Amino acid sequence: MMAKKGRLELKETKLFHTTKEDLESAAQLIREGKTVIFPTETVYGLGANAMDEKAVREIFKAKGRPADNPLIVHIDSLEKIGRYVKELPRNAQLLAEAYWPGPMTLILPKKECISDVVSAGLMTVGIRIPQSAVAREFLKNCDLPVAAPSANLSGSPSPTTFEHCKDDMMGRVDGIICGEDSAVGLESTVIDACGEIPVILRPGGITPEMIKTVCGDVIVDKSVDGVVDTEKPKSPGMKYRHYAPNAEVILVKYGDTEKMRKLAEEVKESIVLLTEESVENFGRESAICIGSQKNPETVAHNLFRVFRECDKKGYKRIILEEIEDKEIGLAVMNRAKRAAKK
Ligand code: AMP
Ligand code: MG
Repeated sequence: MMAKKGRLELKETKLFHTTKEDLESAAQLIREGKTVIFPTETVYGLGANAMDEKAVREIFKAKGRPADNPLIVHIDSLEKIGRYVKELPRNAQLLAEAYWPGPMTLILPKKECISDVVSAGLMTVGIRIPQSAVAREFLKNCDLPVAAPSANLSGSPSPTTFEHCKDDMMGRVDGIICGEDSAVGLESTVIDACGEIPVILRPGGITPEMIKTVCGDVIVDKSVDGVVDTEKPKSPGMKYRHYAPNAEVILVKYGDTEKMRKLAEEVKESIVLLTEESVENFGRESAICIGSQKNPETVAHNLFRVFRECDKKGYKRIILEEIEDKEIGLAVMNRAKRAAKK
């Protein structure tokens, strides 16, 4: 469900640049138990001290996020991980060495110091070391584990620019670091790496192929392919409608421009989001190009930004052309299917 603005005590939101001084001031807010939004290569994160329950509750309040949806904890270097997790199983060690810093979250057995509010009562915690240099300098200055979900109102598309964060969060957080647009544009790959074979709970920038190369094998959890409705999925966030614009989203197979046109004719305020390969066939009218089938990274980078633009322009129906669900296309289609869930 989309969280409603309002009925929340308004905060004074300080805007920071990415200078050394500003990143220090922003980190100081975190140390004081406040909330700060910071850029990362996946999407912008809404951070607070993961060891301070009161601070973490402010994240849930700002987002309107359900309390049973755990948060990912961000740190700046692998050396510090032992402070927060009980052990680093073999597959986790291999993945950490290969893909950190980067768009990957590992689910690990948590130490007591990580608040139960962060883990939503689970014995595990998701940890990530982001690649973004600004994120890591900020985290290093904090010198604390920083719990941070995506910095959007719960249910809506994740923010990939600081303008998106301002749109959703001015007055709801204590600070926003205005950095670059997120390079990847989709959330991290969430991996349970505690067992014999790593399990992907949420696909992202680190692909199944990349995990297989390092660990020899990989399992993609059933929930990734569709939308699970069970009360207790392995990755709690998976049970919610997610990543969705206000407009209705309908998916259409690659190349079926006739169906796209038909669906667009049914609703006056419709927009078609298609890939470069179909532009000529469809014609340019009432369509936006979201990237290329050949380079699915481009679609990942643009998807959430374009969803938000469509809402701003007041479209009621978004007709989205599918891409192949392999490599990062798996993550794109996972978000697209969730956005299309009624
Ligand atoms: P977000 O913070 O919005 O990127 O969402 C983080 C997602 O990571 C959650 O929705 C969960 O699905 C997943 N996650 C975080 N912590 C855990 C955990 N301890 N076990 C399983 N999944 C987790
Ligand atoms: Mg999120």
